[in-house]
Amino acid sequence: MNLYNIKDKSEQVSFAQAVRQGLGREQGLFFPERLEPLADVDALLDLPLVERSARILSHLLGDEVPAPQVHELVKAAFTFPAPLVKLKDGTYALELFHGPTLAFKDFGGRFMAQCLAAFRTNDKITILTATSGDTGAAVAHAFFGLEGIEVVILYPKGKISPLQEALFCTLGGNIRTIAIDGDFDACQALVKQSFDDEELKKAIGLNSANSINISRLLAQVCYYFEAVAQLPKADRAKAVISVPSGNFGNLTAGLIAKALGLPVKRFIAATNANDTVPRYLKTGQWDPHQTVATLSNAMDVSRPNNWPRVEELCRRNGWALETLGSGMRSDAQTRDALKRLHELDYLCEPHGAIAWDLLGEQLAEDEVGVFLCTAHPAKFKESVDEILGLDVPLPGPLAKHAVLPLLSHNLPAEFARLRAFLLG
Ligand SMILES: *Cc1c(COP(=O)(O)O)cnc(C)c1O
Repeated sequence: MNLYNIKDKSEQVSFAQAVRQGLGREQGLFFPERLEPLADVDALLDLPLVERSARILSHLLGDEVPAPQVHELVKAAFTFPAPLVKLKDGTYALELFHGPTLAFKDFGGRFMAQCLAAFRTNDKITILTATSGDTGAAVAHAFFGLEGIEVVILYPKGKISPLQEALFCTLGGNIRTIAIDGDFDACQALVKQSFDDEELKKAIGLNSANSINISRLLAQVCYYFEAVAQLPKADRAKAVISVPSGNFGNLTAGLIAKALGLPVKRFIAATNANDTVPRYLKTGQWDPHQTVATLSNAMDVSRPNNWPRVEELCRRNGWALETLGSGMRSDAQTRDALKRLHELDYLCEPHGAIAWDLLGEQLAEDEVGVFLCTAHPAKFKESVDEILGLDVPLPGPLAKHAVLPLLSHNLPAEFARLRAFLLG
């Protein structure tokens, strides 16, 4: 597989190189040079998840990675299902939270860890990543104990849920976590600055594991196929998929699936009050506001770093940006949606509830709605309990970590301090 840097097309890399490097020059994102449609999508949809995903990824990676090796990587990464659940209102929830850290980021994080371990040279690797909550857990668990790979995770102090924090800041070993005095965008900016620092980059073998890394997105393509595979055959071409969006990696993966020939009618980009993209799609003005804290904190991003990939994909496929549905929900609307979902006997959490509510607003008569449930309700227990008056039980992994001591360091949002920490 050949990839190019969106900001500088003369920079071309293999898949293994893109996985190791994360970002290209000038902080440009890597993008596959070719996305050939799959030959027989109907037959693929009849296969089980691992088998089908191995074929999709093998098609994408081409000669670079032998098919049996792709199969091994997928089998090691995708160890849990992604069930499609039909609600009483006729819409479908794609549950992406049955992995070890109870969020969809397990798919990408685990596949990326497997790829890095497989493509590793003898050089030292340091994974540096910023998280608004769930990436941290997925990355920490996916890499925990992998030899020769150090992991450093930055997160906005006090702005992620205590349970999220417990899930990735209690591991120790090759996983170090830093609470930054600032918001998620500040954490993301520190990561970008680190990647701009050639000396630092070389010294510690910097690699990013956030949704910048193309391997994560390619893994995520696979569950869109899994969603459509579980729909009644007659409904497949009518599917509208609503995606709760923060950095827009998830939506990018959905659009790649469509480019590969998956029958999806259209997508809806669903955000919270950090609605840079919905406003952009309506007005044509790219005008990020200050990031605000919301109930759906994994989407508290006002400068989504995958957006250039969405535009590149639309441009290359001749898809008008206007065909992308979008919308935002305030916290008050999110609370209300969560309650109405509960009345339909479906226990959700704020991110999924936003996607469901926008589907309700924008779905046409002859369309079939699917919304992505990106996290387990217990992962947002504080807000879900308070809004619904429940006591959602903690699933095993959360219960185990919730009682362990936090091992995080604290740092101000200053690059010089982070740099010293990383070199120290
Ligand atoms: C990361 C995350 C999102 C946003 O996904 P993007 O790919 O960044 O758009 C949505 N919901 C949850 C629960 C998340 O953890």
